[in-house]
Amino acid sequence: MSKSLMIVDDSATMRKIIMKTVRMSGLEFDRTEEAGNGAEALEKLKSAAVDIVLCDINMPEMNGVEFVKQARQMDCSKNTKIIMVSTESGQDLIDNLISSGANGYITKPFTPERFQEKLTPFMN
Ligand SMILES: [Mg+2]
Repeated sequence: MSKSLMIVDDSATMRKIIMKTVRMSGLEFDRTEEAGNGAEALEKLKSAAVDIVLCDINMPEMNGVEFVKQARQMDCSKNTKIIMVSTESGQDLIDNLISSGANGYITKPFTPERFQEKLTPFMN
């Protein structure tokens, strides 16, 4: 089944690393998008929804926490799977994100195996 992915991170280098790691994991997407912060990601989702978002937390303009909250309010992304990718690893923050509607959490540094493990459940 064809799947689409959006990578949201304020670092263009990190977006490239994430994209490369996703490819190494063996997961295949027929469409990939990128955004530099939460606000840009919301705008892109409004014009073309995606199945899975990999989202940084610390970003200018709109951070990952606010992005999750707003994405869950929009019809176009209410079923999108949102997996956070961050160096932040506090349990309170993770619990807050999950209760706001995030579907998973990957800590940096990550491996292809970690992406495979966290994304495979959402690939059917
Ligand atoms: Mg960042």
